Amino acid sequence: MTARLIDGKALADTVKAEVAQRVLALKDRGVVPGLAVVLVGEDPASQVYVRNKAAACEKAGLHSRVLRLAADISEQHLLDVVRQLNEDDAVHGILVQLPLPKHMDAAKVIEAIAASKDVDGFHISNAGLLMTGQPLFRPCTPYGIMKMLESENVALRGAEAVVVGASNIVGKPMAMLLLAAGATVTLCNSKTRDLGAQTRRADVLVVATGKPGMVKGDMIKPGAVVIDVGINRGPDGKLVGDVEFESAKAVAGAITPVPGGVGPMTIAMLLVNTLEAAERGATHLVSA
Ligand code: NDP
Repeated sequence: MTARLIDGKALADTVKAEVAQRVLALKDRGVVPGLAVVLVGEDPASQVYVRNKAAACEKAGLHSRVLRLAADISEQHLLDVVRQLNEDDAVHGILVQLPLPKHMDAAKVIEAIAASKDVDGFHISNAGLLMTGQPLFRPCTPYGIMKMLESENVALRGAEAVVVGASNIVGKPMAMLLLAAGATVTLCNSKTRDLGAQTRRADVLVVATGKPGMVKGDMIKPGAVVIDVGINRGPDGKLVGDVEFESAKAVAGAITPVPGGVGPMTIAMLLVNTLEAAERGATHLVSA
């Protein structure tokens, strides 16, 4: 048996085309959705991500503004930039690209973003809203994964879902979204005893550890849906996931490739979140 490939790129293109339509409708009402991306320093991976995000915005008709700041600016300077963006009516979404330089407190910077413009969904208010079942912005990567599962008609109600990796930006919100969809969720971290015993129970397995190829075919339940969030650069320069693709695809029922799986969906959902922030703002304008 060979697993079906879940084509994140194709689904992302569909989502982006829908966004472009809604952007046009909003423009008729005089609103152009705007995303501000703040990049501090010159981390090469971050530069690529920021470029891709800005390009995707422009292509879908959203306005994007990239603010490039030197790595040695003070934390206060960055906080001031964020506060100015909070007050700028042309900016509906604000994203501070992580990681930040070591002399800055990322949590403090994220808390400075207005929760109503926090299109990454990392603000503590948005994390709390998600946890209590009233999400405003869902973090883009887990949100994109939910879209993929939906488009593949994966039944989540009553399913065993196992998430490996418990970061604030991927693993924890992923677990919350799966739980809200009715799955029975197990959230694993680096201290989990006998990881394979957990992953082998999964009907839906999401892996986000940053450890290349750590989940192998013999850790997967036959027929399971496997979502590989990992983006790691292999010794040959190629991108590899956190799942060992060849052995996994011989066991799984469906699997996301790396690249071309979760990555494109993350960007598509950033556009959705920015559009929806602008739509909410436009509703406010009408009702005011
Ligand atoms: P973090 O480093 O913040 O978190 C990693 C998590 O994995 C932690 O909870 C850690 O456990 C857990 N972990 C590490 N090793 C193991 C192990 N051996 N067994 C079980 N759990 C383990 O990573 P992120 O969540 O930010 O990112 C994870 C991966 O996803 C990376 O490869 C990243 O590049 C990628 N990524 C991809 C995106 C996309 O768009 N496709 C978006 C965001 C991230 P503990 O809590 O105990 O330390």
